[in-house]
Amino acid sequence: MKEHFGPLADGRQAHLYTISCGDLTAKVSDLGATLVQLHVPDAQGTLADVVLGFDDPSGYLRSDAYFGATVGRNANRVKSAAFLLGNHTYHLDKNDGENDLHSGFRGYHTRLWDVIEHTASSIQFRLLSPHGDQGFPGNATIQVTYTMETDGLRIAYDAVSDRDTVFNLTNHSYFNLAGHDHPEKAMEQILCLPARHFVLADGSSIPTGALPEVTGTPMDFRTPKAISQALEADYTPLTLQKGIDHNFEVFCAPAVILTDPCSGRSLAITTDLPGIQVYTGNYTDEVGKNGVHYHNRPGVALEAQFYPDSVNHPEWKQPFAKAGETFHSETKYRFA
Ligand code: BGC
Repeated sequence: MKEHFGPLADGRQAHLYTISCGDLTAKVSDLGATLVQLHVPDAQGTLADVVLGFDDPSGYLRSDAYFGATVGRNANRVKSAAFLLGNHTYHLDKNDGENDLHSGFRGYHTRLWDVIEHTASSIQFRLLSPHGDQGFPGNATIQVTYTMETDGLRIAYDAVSDRDTVFNLTNHSYFNLAGHDHPEKAMEQILCLPARHFVLADGSSIPTGALPEVTGTPMDFRTPKAISQALEADYTPLTLQKGIDHNFEVFCAPAVILTDPCSGRSLAITTDLPGIQVYTGNYTDEVGKNGVHYHNRPGVALEAQFYPDSVNHPEWKQPFAKAGETFHSETKYRFA
């Protein structure tokens, strides 16, 4: 099904596309190649929409929450909004103090993507991002494919550029498995992260370069616990970021499991990328779908990506792609 989502500032129309398989259904928009709704049953078959979002394009165009958005070319922060590639320093927008966040102004989440193919269970979007777009090198063709499978949603990224560039693409959905309309339950979700290390960041959320062990800290989610339990701890990295807003290493599959203790719905994320940004919506204060007030940490974003500022950390896995070489990455969101 294809339906109107609403107009953009320039009068063009954004649409919502339904994809489904078995009892899982999603609605995805060509505005930002954004996941707008994701309906998941509990054991009794009761459906809940488990992602935060807005009812029409205006929210997505105005907000800096990046609900459900496809973020690129580079997700997360770049220190001093600059990086070296080859023998050239590229300058990005300083849209987060002195730093770049999610690639800068006029993000991919505000663009209307082309629909290449829409079937009952999948949709493929394409964006042409010209050389110099937000400061990044190379004319890039970026494709994002959402495929609903019997056990969950797969998101695949394929991208190619005519010059060496950066491809660090992620989906920025905030999950509340109790349902997006129960913000009070979001931090009671149980988080399980097999990560042994996380990326330490300064007060501007820029990595210091240290990858401390989680052992003995509130960042240890190897034994599953309620997110609220970690948030109560007196721990400098949590105080600095006003909650959880940290990247954890991915070293096994699944990289993260989230469970809602009331409904029993669970989500397991498997990715080929090296990090998962866990963000508890520390500043989120928005009126979202069906007029629901999203506040007091109304969901948790689980973003598969390269480590933050990895463009400036050659010792970490690098998000650079060679001219003409196709970048491919996949993340699977499995529900039970
Ligand atoms: C970042 C947060 C930021 C949020 C919304 C997350 O990916 O880690 O620091 O506030 O996106 O922009």
